[in-house]
Amino acid sequence: MTNYNVNEEGFYGTYGGAYIPEILYKTVEDLKQAYLPILESPEFKQEYHALQKDYVGRPSPLYYARRMSQKYGCQLYLKREDLNHTGAHKINNALGQILLAKKMGKTRIIAETGAGQHGVATATACALMNLPCRVYMGALDVERQHVNVERMRMLGAEVFPVQSGNKTLKDATNEAIRDWCCHPADTFYIIGSTVGPHPYPDMVARLQSVISEEIKWQLKEQVGRDYPDYLMACVGGGSNAAGTIYHYLNDDRVKIVLGEAGGMGVETPETAASITIGTVGILHGSKIKVMQTEDGQIIEPYSISAGLDYPGTGPLHCNLADTGRASVIPVTDQEALQAGFELTRLEGIIPALESAHALGMLPKMKFQPEDVVVLTVSGRGDKDLDTYLKHKNEINYDEI
Ligand SMILES: *Cc1c(COP(=O)(O)O)cnc(C)c1O
Repeated sequence: MTNYNVNEEGFYGTYGGAYIPEILYKTVEDLKQAYLPILESPEFKQEYHALQKDYVGRPSPLYYARRMSQKYGCQLYLKREDLNHTGAHKINNALGQILLAKKMGKTRIIAETGAGQHGVATATACALMNLPCRVYMGALDVERQHVNVERMRMLGAEVFPVQSGNKTLKDATNEAIRDWCCHPADTFYIIGSTVGPHPYPDMVARLQSVISEEIKWQLKEQVGRDYPDYLMACVGGGSNAAGTIYHYLNDDRVKIVLGEAGGMGVETPETAASITIGTVGILHGSKIKVMQTEDGQIIEPYSISAGLDYPGTGPLHCNLADTGRASVIPVTDQEALQAGFELTRLEGIIPALESAHALGMLPKMKFQPEDVVVLTVSGRGDKDLDTYLKHKNEINYDEI
């Protein structure tokens, strides 16, 4: 049977690896040696799970969505990561990495953020653990995501606006890597998704795998078997999807369906569908599918959802797509908006626009009535209210 997990060298098929500057070699090597023994130690597990339970509010519910099930002719269960402290799944990872940083004796935390969601999760974890935190953010994103910037500052983090390049996520990432190169000994770089050099994609997937660990026993309790027929999630860098599928990766009874951001359509320049239109390249220290020009310049991605606005997708997901283990479906802005309003009206849950991209795949599916479908709602939609309201007249309410 094929194994879809990372191999010894840090690759998923031909994707992944650690393409890093010489000066970071030792730091990344130290992390590679340290992460598995620490993550698997009883002491780490105890602290991590105590925080997940009492601080984050886990387990997150697995909710049977009755009206949505009726509409789509299946048994639809929603994994409610939107109910976590700070409103999304990112906190699962931030808490895990900060515990790891402490165990490795690091005294300073850096992170980069696009929309600000990962920055807020990291700043939250740093406040909790009393560690200094610097968050790199493109100057344009600082303007666009003002509320999250203020949240980070209130939490005590220093937000550093990056003025280079397009002043967005890729430039913030470059600046964070530059900082890491200057302070490799004392600084821990918390990456927010299943991207970056090995071991980050595997480490983040493991820290998010609490999602599928819970899905297993919650399904057993609710439907009498511990696996679904379908798992569905949205993909930016890939962390909520990785957490959702982790314990089912090598279980071929379970079909995996991932939604990436189609933007205005994959045939237009306004898209972030990097698996659909990307080509192989190195980004953020990892060989993945990247949106790039023929001479390797990164193309600025576009999506209505800030959290999916990343020009690549993690190596695990690139390999799942190439091997056919997962289907990857682009969902346009319009389809996501419609899906977001639909969940709101049918179930009383306002999803994050990112999560609405997972929901936006439902009309494209062909289910059997008895199919058990688990779809992860990665975050809550409060942060997206302005965007939803701006587009409310484009929604087809007769379709809901
Ligand atoms: C950041 C974010 C995403 C996208 O990141 P992944 O690593 O692909 O999960 C999805 N949903 C929400 C709510 C987010 O904040």
